[in-house]
Amino acid sequence: MIPYIIKSNSRSKSLRISVHVDGSVVVTKPKRISNLQARFLVARRESWIKEKIDELSKKPKKLLAHYSVQDYKENRQKAYEIVWNKVLHYNKFYKYDVGTIYIRNQKTRWGSCSGKKNLNFNYKIVFLPEELQDYIIVHELCHLKEMNHSSRFWANVALQIPDYKDRRKIIKLY
Ligand SMILES: [Zn+2]
Repeated sequence: MIPYIIKSNSRSKSLRISVHVDGSVVVTKPKRISNLQARFLVARRESWIKEKIDELSKKPKKLLAHYSVQDYKENRQKAYEIVWNKVLHYNKFYKYDVGTIYIRNQKTRWGSCSGKKNLNFNYKIVFLPEELQDYIIVHELCHLKEMNHSSRFWANVALQIPDYKDRRKIIKLY
């Protein structure tokens, strides 16, 4: 049995399980679902939770600093494909004007957005779990509308990544 805490949230529409970087598990449930029902649903997803905890414990430390020029050459094209597919996918929802997409070899950032509506992404995105890739793509896409980190910006991110706060916390560890 994995220990977890259950929170009730009147705004939540369905049961949500979040696994945090430190291995803690939080289950958020709508008021209409009882604790007993929640425990039943969590039990059914136990193997998924274990996988998540495993995945998080294996993540490399300080990923951004680790790689060489050779890694860049080998992974640039793959990064480009991942980024393109995800930009196309999420922009079906946002429908923003996207300029050129660049893949760069950067030390300290995952992505950036220019005033000319160009989007830059770090090729090391290929080494991240998909949930974090999605978060980075949506984050930069949303900068096409808001060039800041205002509450309006985050509300826009949340439309596609409702648990962006968790993902943001995890990405800081890489
Ligand atoms: Zn940003």
